[in-house]
Amino acid sequence: MALIVHKYGGTSMGSVERIRNVARRIAKWHRAGHQMMVVPSAMAGETNRLLELAFSISAQPEPRELDMIAATGEQVSIGLLSLALKALGVCACSYAGWQVPIKTDGTFSKARIIEIDGARVRRDLEAGRIAVIAGFQGVDDANNITTLGRGGSDTSALALAAAFAADECLIYTDVDGVYTADPRIVDQARRLECITCEEMLEMASLGSKVLQTRSVEFAGKYRVKTRVLSSLSDPLMPLEDEMRSGTLMTFEEDQTMEQVVVSGIAHQRDEARIAVLSVPDTPGIAYQILGPVARAHIDIDMIVQNQSVEGRTDFTFTVARSDYARAMDILNASVKAQIGARQVIGDPQVSKVSVIGVGMRSHVGVARTMFRTLAEEGINIQMISTSEIKISVLIDEKYMELAVRALHKAFELERG
Ligand code: ASP
Ligand code: MG
Repeated sequence: MALIVHKYGGTSMGSVERIRNVARRIAKWHRAGHQMMVVPSAMAGETNRLLELAFSISAQPEPRELDMIAATGEQVSIGLLSLALKALGVCACSYAGWQVPIKTDGTFSKARIIEIDGARVRRDLEAGRIAVIAGFQGVDDANNITTLGRGGSDTSALALAAAFAADECLIYTDVDGVYTADPRIVDQARRLECITCEEMLEMASLGSKVLQTRSVEFAGKYRVKTRVLSSLSDPLMPLEDEMRSGTLMTFEEDQTMEQVVVSGIAHQRDEARIAVLSVPDTPGIAYQILGPVARAHIDIDMIVQNQSVEGRTDFTFTVARSDYARAMDILNASVKAQIGARQVIGDPQVSKVSVIGVGMRSHVGVARTMFRTLAEEGINIQMISTSEIKISVLIDEKYMELAVRALHKAFELERG
């Protein structure tokens, strides 16, 4: 007997018929003798609908109320799924985040999980009941309902798996695993049987939308065995086959096989670049430029400061396209005059393409292949950033798909 966590995304919960299929799958696992915790998302499109309702009443809804509204989507899901399980004759009990409780800090709409008290759910599991727990939500110290950020049900599932020391966490989604690149862009993209947690972390934060980044951090920190797999397969398929399907997240130290050098290509379409031109090259300048931007809760991604010429330099960085206008306003309104910059210019039509692989640690030549491939396609690189296991380039959005396809081919990712 094992303790298993299942997480089902919005598409998997998208209709009553799909919820029934989810219940059939869970009941099959339960019948095989496992203790089960299940974390569903809201039904597909529901969270967007709820947020639109809020914004239709107020242009700037109060964050606490926004979370109150957004959290209801998952509450409907846990109730429906519990009913569907009971209809199959298995005992199930639904829990809102505050009933577990899943304790978070008080940052509405981006709350972080601080602690999970497992006592109540543990009693259910020991009595053979399936615990159906709302994803995406928690409760803060002052008993307010909080949410964990879009896609946060992944994080709920992984945090619960970590807190309960679950044997495995299965993330059921509308794709059948993690691919070498987005299959909608690259026909030859291939499903990976395994991916290391570090690569997954890069993939998630570099634009692959399979898992929320925070959830991968939990999996890595607590070494949760995590598998990403399809919820759209036959729910009654043999358990042994299901346990081998999808993509398994592994830990680098456990790898016995020779590593491939590059595992995948990720992309982030909606980026924007901002350059502050001719700023004095003095201590504190980065802080003076980026401080006000960060204070407006705008995430800054790539940063480049050029070599200074005659004491002045250019400072360039990227933000999400949705934050572009706000960031430009902040810089033009006060920062520019304050630091005596000549000009603030920007381009909201750029994308980031990244090559990822833990094998880069021990192999040279990845950068050369990447830059040669882009050069051959006539694609201009605007910015570059690297870590030990990835190289990212910023390019014109027009060439994003071309770049992903060309790199996929150059690194021979279609071959298993
Ligand atoms: N329902 C939430 C969202 O749409 C959380 C999730 O699906 O993971 O972002
Ligand atoms: Mg998701």
